[in-house]
Amino acid sequence: MTSIERVFVPSVKEADGTAIGLGVFSTEETAWTVLRAFMRKSHLMSLRTASIVVWDVDMVGEEGMTILTTMHCRDCPVCKRRTFWLDLEQFSAMCTGVNCEAWIEESTIETDKIDLGWPPTRFLKQTSTLEEALKELRVLGSELAATGYTPQAPITSIREE
Ligand SMILES: [Zn+2]
Repeated sequence: MTSIERVFVPSVKEADGTAIGLGVFSTEETAWTVLRAFMRKSHLMSLRTASIVVWDVDMVGEEGMTILTTMHCRDCPVCKRRTFWLDLEQFSAMCTGVNCEAWIEESTIETDKIDLGWPPTRFLKQTSTLEEALKELRVLGSELAATGYTPQAPITSIREE
């Protein structure tokens, strides 16, 4: 058996500051899977942040620690639920709410561009800044609200899960 040199530790922090550890994993992929599954429950809890920290095994002190990602929980600009996870360093965000899943990501093709989308209507758009991307999603949210959209009663073109 090969020895583990690094471990991936996902955790979330509640609004009152309590940290909830989700386990210690040998791969980044598993840590993400576990964290994403937990984030889907964010509307049921009062969460503030989620993060994945990498620890080098047998290293003393903070040098053995690298913060891979930190995401902040916000109200979703589209569905208004507290299910929107924003990573300010990587300019990415995603809503974990059912029937929403609004997302923002740095473009992989054009540098300095930000892509955003809303899967239920295959809405896609590109902006130059994260602020503009968030604004676009807010506009989409108010347009949807004007049509009577609520995430609990999805528009009929959405395939049921
Ligand atoms: Zn949403």
